[in-house]
Amino acid sequence: MIIIMKPGSTEADIDDVCRRVADFGFRTHLSRGEVRTIIGVVGDDRAKEQLLALQALDAVEGVVRILQPFKLASREAHPESTQFKIGDVPVGGRQIVVMAGPCAVESRPQLLAVAEAVKEGGAHILRGGAFKPRTSPYAFQGLEEEGLALLSEASRKTGLPVVTEVMEPDKVEVVAEHADVLQIGARNVQNFSLLKRVAECGKPVLLKRGMSTSIQEWLLSAEYVLAGGNPNVILCERGIRTFETATRYTLDLNAIPVVKKLSHLPVFVDPSHGTGHWEYVAAMARAGLAAGADGLIIEVHNKPEEALSDGPQSLKPDRFAALMRELRPLAEVLGRSL
Ligand code: PEP
Ligand code: MN
Repeated sequence: MIIIMKPGSTEADIDDVCRRVADFGFRTHLSRGEVRTIIGVVGDDRAKEQLLALQALDAVEGVVRILQPFKLASREAHPESTQFKIGDVPVGGRQIVVMAGPCAVESRPQLLAVAEAVKEGGAHILRGGAFKPRTSPYAFQGLEEEGLALLSEASRKTGLPVVTEVMEPDKVEVVAEHADVLQIGARNVQNFSLLKRVAECGKPVLLKRGMSTSIQEWLLSAEYVLAGGNPNVILCERGIRTFETATRYTLDLNAIPVVKKLSHLPVFVDPSHGTGHWEYVAAMARAGLAAGADGLIIEVHNKPEEALSDGPQSLKPDRFAALMRELRPLAEVLGRSL
């Protein structure tokens, strides 16, 4: 349920409603718009009669049932698009945010070279996996804690905030010490104990869509993080599995306007995993922005031919810089900046 306060209602009015709602045993989440404040109410639906009765209060415009199963993630509960900052980088507003870097942190020279290159090319945030979810147990699994330390060093050297994946609840704390954004990978989008833990980490979360996850399931996963007290979630479309084999996955561009309609959360696109081939990355990056994405996450490697993971889909630094130059005028046409 949501409680819509009348325009002009005071802090005392809002506090009064929140207190009453808490007394019924519900949790509240405030969404303060320019004109109206909306109080999202989460809890057991059985007490809904008591909530509906709050319509009798002078300061309350209405009490409305949210139809979507995801409540806090829904635009019904939070009509204005969510915006927050990662370091100095504003997410979810006019600016398009580009995260770039290698699939995996492989070595100090590799990471520092790629970090400098993506910074030079105009990236806002450095990506790099220290814990890698690999299909084969024989494939490179990441440098783990050593990789996190290298990410911190690269971040200090370039001034770029860092996004990196966390795969296990027990590693959330150490990853959050080194990262500015915690990535939940496609394979862990429904790892509910991990979602509950990142909800408590105090850092923004980049939540990839699973390769076989419906939009509703994906938004319910975001709901876990929001309901756990972390409002700073970025959704990332990274391709779903279809019958098509010419590309690694099928980048579901439909998901962008659909999610934008259903949810207030920022949406990014990952054209690297979405296609699996560097030649297609630029086209799908452009398409993602045209479809309304708020940002991109792109794999870049100084020597893709020697990469320990995802070399075939990684851009060389000069191609990344060329793509950024191409995206700037596109962003402008779309009424955004880059
Ligand atoms: C990655 O970003 O390198 C990654 C493993 O992504 P995904 O979880 O989308 O496969
Ligand atoms: Mn990768």
